[in-house]
Amino acid sequence: MLINKIIVIISLVFLFASWRLDGFVAGSNEPVKKENKTATNKRLSSYKKFHADEVVNIRIFSQVKIQSFTISAEIGAYSVWGNGMEIANTKTTSLIKLSLVNDSVEVKTFENVIGKFKKVKISSAETERTFRMKLLLPDRKPRFYEGNLVVTAELGELKCINDISLDNYIAGVVQAESGRRSPQEFYKVQAILARTFALANLQKHSAETFNLCDHTHCQVYFGKTTELEIMKAVNVTKGKVVVDDNLSLINATFHSNSGGQTANSEDVWGSKVSYLRSVNDTFSIKMPNAKWERKMSKEDWLSYLKLKHNFPIQDSNARWAALTFKQETRKAYLESNNIKVPLKNVRTDLQLKSTFFSIYPQGDSLLFKGRGFGHGVGMCQEGAMKMAKLGYKYPEVINFYYQKTQLIDLHKLNFFKDE
Ligand SMILES: [Zn+2]
Repeated sequence: MLINKIIVIISLVFLFASWRLDGFVAGSNEPVKKENKTATNKRLSSYKKFHADEVVNIRIFSQVKIQSFTISAEIGAYSVWGNGMEIANTKTTSLIKLSLVNDSVEVKTFENVIGKFKKVKISSAETERTFRMKLLLPDRKPRFYEGNLVVTAELGELKCINDISLDNYIAGVVQAESGRRSPQEFYKVQAILARTFALANLQKHSAETFNLCDHTHCQVYFGKTTELEIMKAVNVTKGKVVVDDNLSLINATFHSNSGGQTANSEDVWGSKVSYLRSVNDTFSIKMPNAKWERKMSKEDWLSYLKLKHNFPIQDSNARWAALTFKQETRKAYLESNNIKVPLKNVRTDLQLKSTFFSIYPQGDSLLFKGRGFGHGVGMCQEGAMKMAKLGYKYPEVINFYYQKTQLIDLHKLNFFKDE
């Protein structure tokens, strides 16, 4: 009894704490937003919905204005439903075409037009099921998805939502975000981070009636994984998520390469987060994206600083500081005469691979020698890959890049199921 009470109390703390992470997104510059009551209610309903079946709703081809596509069953049999009625079945019709016609979804077989509908659902009751989707307009390579599909006509395009089990979705994300032929332990790390991100952001698109999109705005997802090793990693880490010392789901941000030192969250996004601390990361230094170089004329660099940041280049000390800027360890600013130039802005404006660079004058030009690739906050993917190859286990990798965090099992937090 006491244990049950403790679990319920922990669940409550976790739930309320995790609400606070809304809007603080991997890879974006958005700060933590204040919660309002409507957002809280939306979050509550999306958690409840999720806990009921552990299915997530993902908008697929979210960057494409789909006009028409074909669909067929790859594994299992699918029924096609229009306005709540079964209108076709893949057992009798192998290929079905859906097109946008006058703000409706037109459903067609080879032989005839079945009809036009506001909403079309393609679903199967089988556990093992996969459909093949081929965009015709615009033309795209076929993709394979597990779960069901809901299609609506909205604002001149077909909106496609894939209803899929969390773990199958996670496996697709791991493949899209970390590629193939990586070490098993690295896949486990990516699976846990993808699951943590998904659960912390279930309400990100709630106003548009789905949970997450399939683009970098949320997490990249191209459909079903083709790698057995990825599916194994997802199963082995089933239910595992990362929480901070308040038991809130963490903002599981990552980047390609830290250049030997990760960045503090406040130096990149302005707000200090307890687990996004700068760590000395020797694992990343011999990896592919550890170094970069870029040439620029002195004139371009100085006029950029003057025009964009009002940096006093006419002052000889400031000018010298700008032309010989060095970073042994990561800095947040280039500064002189009380003028601070945020390096995060320099990186975006000049499209540099990282903020972790030093400048070496060479005649009339400057050589920028940089370290790392990406914003530098949270986990360094190449460093994590190296740790996995060296035999470190996934909890060690996660605790190295996200300091003072814990791994917990989502299924121990099943408070809502008992409601
Ligand atoms: Zn999104």
